[in-house]
Amino acid sequence: MTIPTTNIFSYAAGDYFNISAMSATKQVNPSTREMERVNWMEFRDWVPAKINTVLLPLGTIEAHGVAANGADIIAPVAMAREIAPRLNAMIAPVVPYGFTGVLDAYPGSFTIPEDAYRAYVRAVLVGLAKNKFKNIILLNGHGGGQTAILSALVQEVGRETGARILAVNWWSYCSDLTLEVFGQGFVHAGENETAYVMAIDPSLVRKEQYNPDMATPLPAPNTWSAYPFPSSIMLYKEGQGYPKFDLAKAKTYFAKVNDKIASLIHETIRKWDMAGL
Ligand SMILES: [Zn+2]
Repeated sequence: MTIPTTNIFSYAAGDYFNISAMSATKQVNPSTREMERVNWMEFRDWVPAKINTVLLPLGTIEAHGVAANGADIIAPVAMAREIAPRLNAMIAPVVPYGFTGVLDAYPGSFTIPEDAYRAYVRAVLVGLAKNKFKNIILLNGHGGGQTAILSALVQEVGRETGARILAVNWWSYCSDLTLEVFGQGFVHAGENETAYVMAIDPSLVRKEQYNPDMATPLPAPNTWSAYPFPSSIMLYKEGQGYPKFDLAKAKTYFAKVNDKIASLIHETIRKWDMAGL
């Protein structure tokens, strides 16, 4: 994946110059917003005095039709890089392995047992709070049982640490944009998810390997269940959401999704502040 990281100057130039004026010899100039790329002194100077929000991408590795197995990792990482400057946020290292579910039998897929995953993510969230981030934003790339675990952890860790925590499941939250751009709803590894990944890097999607027979509608409740699921493209509505590989639409969708997620985060923080929480 090749996404330029945005220099912190682009948002906080004013802050930088104030700091320079106070301490001309001390350089407070992180070249990146990625936590693993700054040293402890830069981190200390910026968090929480200048930056109090962190974006934590979470994904999993599972089959995604003709898109890369890491689609659920690549999407929230790209999203974080795209929106971090306008939210004045740092980006925490991604939690790549997740709680996968019925697609973990496909080649190259993994799942982490639920209790281990829950405890690990919990420790990551507590660690971010301990590092003095006031706002911890989970950008989740994977659905199924993982969303329920993260939603429970938001409340548990928020209550325990006093940090303000928001988890966003981008594909659900942006289902209105999926309808607007593609005229149909969300599909696992279908048109919209494949488009988001294609907008990041078209080489992550192998459209020459695509065949519509690679898709199966999800069963209606209590009708049938199968392990492994017979297809890695899961239609939420029969006949809807097959990938079309339209790069122009993909780029439009990518931009609209990022704008909508950034607005949600911005508004949530504004209201937390307004309520004095
Ligand atoms: Zn996915």
